[in-house]
Amino acid sequence: MMSRSVLVINCGSSSIKFAVVPEKRNPNIEANTSLTRRSGLAENIGTADARLNIVHENGEKTSIAIPNADHQIALTHILGALGDEKPIAIGHRVVHGGEKFTQAAQINEDVVSAIRETIPLAPLHNPANLLGIETTLKLFAELPQVAVFDTAFHQTMPAHAFRYAVPEDLYRQHRIRRYGFHGTSHAYVTQHLNQLIGSTNHGWLSAHLGNGCSTSAVWIGKSVDTSMGLTPLEGLVMGTRSGNVDPSLHLHLVKTLGWSLDEIDQILNKKSGLLGLSGVSNDMRTLTDMAKTGHAGATLAIEVFCYRLAQSLAAMSCALPEFTGIIFTGGIGENSAEIRARTLALLPHFNLHLDDAQNQKMIRGAEGRIDQNINGGRQIWVIPTDEEGQIAQETRGVLGL
Ligand code: ADP
Repeated sequence: MMSRSVLVINCGSSSIKFAVVPEKRNPNIEANTSLTRRSGLAENIGTADARLNIVHENGEKTSIAIPNADHQIALTHILGALGDEKPIAIGHRVVHGGEKFTQAAQINEDVVSAIRETIPLAPLHNPANLLGIETTLKLFAELPQVAVFDTAFHQTMPAHAFRYAVPEDLYRQHRIRRYGFHGTSHAYVTQHLNQLIGSTNHGWLSAHLGNGCSTSAVWIGKSVDTSMGLTPLEGLVMGTRSGNVDPSLHLHLVKTLGWSLDEIDQILNKKSGLLGLSGVSNDMRTLTDMAKTGHAGATLAIEVFCYRLAQSLAAMSCALPEFTGIIFTGGIGENSAEIRARTLALLPHFNLHLDDAQNQKMIRGAEGRIDQNINGGRQIWVIPTDEEGQIAQETRGVLGL
């Protein structure tokens, strides 16, 4: 039987994530949640430790060694792991679409060249994403393929939100501007919530809090601002990323410590954020546990994380003509009642009335409203994100499937 599923691929430099997303059966409800999707991860690609880990529809997990597999061999194993589940299309996550891609695009030679032209803006991610695309074009030549960009949803930002106050040539000739990322997640949670409450006429502040973190202001279904910028380093405190720092920090560190720009880049991306502040972990679960035992670093990391998140939400609210409410998503946003409560408590002038019991209930994939539903109060929601489902849906949309 033809399953009409879409294979979603997220190709990194040494890993490939995949998910098989079945067709939606009801336009409002994804018939199969992520729990019933076949999904997996090929990791350590190109090394002797390469493995393919698969989670089957019934939750069973299998893992096979694929020593020294390159991307092509790993993708062949992934295809083998699909069994009879032959997809009708492939949707690729692509990190950066520059200004060219305001929505998902069917992959052809022009799209591949445009993604290649965007490599200077995403030197770490786009080459790996392209490698995934080029390999699957070879392996699955008969399947239509679509690129879904992390930046595309934010292309509706007005110039006053996306321009930096630097000389215009840097923008016109070198494409220096704010792009924003996590667009697939912000698009999913806001569209899903608008469907749930039956109208799009809302202004939401969406907070995606995972290893990477960003906020977005979404007015009538369109992104009007977001906290990440030219790169995913701008904005909030994240697991290992610093978020905003003084723009002169690089110069200061070069001059005073003699560090190279690459070293500074590594430190700001891999050793900062929750990890840098706490000195112990980038994992919010570990930090909340350690803070309870009085660990000073963990306590400070949580305080800075919540303060900067609240600041960002307050700043983002300027972008909304009307402010309906706040949505929490991502691993931290979906699971930590404590981080949600601490952040909201820092916004006392926002007319937010958290329902503590509801807040405690919204964990491990639960979706729902967590404010007290007071007349005139802002709504507060927890909506588990579904980036793979969104990529599959946009893939079908572009292809008319
Ligand atoms: P990614 O951005 O890699 O997709 P996730 O969205 O899965 O990551 O988020 C990972 C983060 O979610 C980690 O910091 C993890 O500690 C946090 N997290 C998961 N469960 C909980 C929990 N119960 N309490 C606090 N944080 C949690």
